[in-house]
Amino acid sequence: MMSSLYNHMQAAVDIVETSPHPANKIAATIAGEGFALSRVNTWPAAIVGAIGTQTAIGNSSGTIHAETACILSAPKTEGASIFVTDPPCPNCMKNMAEAGIGALYIDHKGFDKDWAKRRGDSFEAMSIRIAEKAGIDIHIIYRKEQRFEIISSHTPGYKPPIENPPKIEETAGRFDILIETAHKEMANEPFVLAMANNPDGKSFSILVNSHPTIGYTSDTMEKKEDKYSFLMEPLSRALMIAARHGLKVDAQHLYSSRVPTARELVNLLGARLDQIQIGDMSASRDENGPQALQQLKEAQILRVD
Ligand SMILES: [Zn+2]
Repeated sequence: MMSSLYNHMQAAVDIVETSPHPANKIAATIAGEGFALSRVNTWPAAIVGAIGTQTAIGNSSGTIHAETACILSAPKTEGASIFVTDPPCPNCMKNMAEAGIGALYIDHKGFDKDWAKRRGDSFEAMSIRIAEKAGIDIHIIYRKEQRFEIISSHTPGYKPPIENPPKIEETAGRFDILIETAHKEMANEPFVLAMANNPDGKSFSILVNSHPTIGYTSDTMEKKEDKYSFLMEPLSRALMIAARHGLKVDAQHLYSSRVPTARELVNLLGARLDQIQIGDMSASRDENGPQALQQLKEAQILRVD
């Protein structure tokens, strides 16, 4: 068991040079019950083919980070561990919290890279705090010496508070009626409703609004740092919740009450989904969402109803 930790990290290190990113090459492995898979940071195939890697999508780089790519590819993420070559950014840490990742391992060499030095602040200021609140233990792995250090751990039995837990229900109901009901329930809160299937083919509805990163509540939420926020947007949240429970989102039954953010739309393509219904096309968190949506529609890689 011990040595498998180092093998999982080594599997990430082994593919890191295959990352198409010209400057920051990062790789990660996710290991859970009966599976382990590794991914590099990369652009979703649809974006590479239709837009290319030189154009920002709204205000988003258009890339999917390695840790998030792992989550979006894994059969079921609850309780899984992630091994990554570099210290994770706050967005990936939020995704890991939402996806129910139990432990995080970072390669010690990742702390010496330029990127880590430049972005070290947001790792120290936000990522570690998010992990603590979510109950994700952080370890630094020294592969050569086959040892690790714990740099952040939760108290045994700690259960993070979850504000506005997602509603996951087994249903065979009509999607338009479910949307109508969700609107009544959510009132003016932006939300996402998705249908998703488990491996046995059973159908579930997932209903989420935005909420503070797991472990925070509206009362304890901290102010935004730099370009990162402690708030989890509904579409990204729905994708992570689906991964957490081993549910596969059905692109034909995915509804967002407003235009998602640019980052959420990139994550959607990263999850290999190419279709979304949007309720109010004039509503969005900021102006970058509608801009990104327009780009993806024009490139014909996202169908919007
Ligand atoms: Zn990241």
